[in-house]
Amino acid sequence: MKKTFLGLGSNVGDRENNIVHALHHLSKKLSIIDYSSLYDSAPIGYLNQDNFLNMVVEADTELVTPYELLSLVKTIEQKMGRKQTFHWGPRIIDIDILYIEGLHIDTDELTVPHRELWNRNFVLIPLSELTEFLLIDNKKLLIKEMIHADQTDQVSLHKQKEEISYNVQS
Ligand code: AMP
Repeated sequence: MKKTFLGLGSNVGDRENNIVHALHHLSKKLSIIDYSSLYDSAPIGYLNQDNFLNMVVEADTELVTPYELLSLVKTIEQKMGRKQTFHWGPRIIDIDILYIEGLHIDTDELTVPHRELWNRNFVLIPLSELTEFLLIDNKKLLIKEMIHADQTDQVSLHKQKEEISYNVQS
């Protein structure tokens, strides 16, 4: 098994439905191991837009290459009607590859671990529900220690995992 974490975000339309929908699409191609609660987060960068809902998903990507995974997430984003907007702009769905166990990629097309992983509480807080640490370059990085304590008010629990109407199919 190759442990992978994906970050899902939406701030247009029925945000929760969009995220659950994306999870369903992902589950058709990947084995979903777990997912976090939903968090409401203030926009970053471009502030004049609605809050996002965010979730982190743990999947097994043993059967796909990182570029196949990137192509899969882009296809899902397009299928769900994502329009090309500007960087940091509003979106029906955004799916980021946050981390793939044992992998380090830095190309124009794909950077893993995700470049912004450590900067974003809306990723780190849900991620802390799923794992205590990430192994990067043989270093154990504790998620709780990476959370930016001065910005925790930007991210709030929206819905507990148990209340989300989605079941991992085994
Ligand atoms: P975004 O606007 O956040 O969806 O990012 C768009 C572009 O970022 C995509 O076209 C990808 O090629 C590139 N990208 C680089 N690294 C990643 C990553 N770890 N996960 C998702 N997209 C990535």
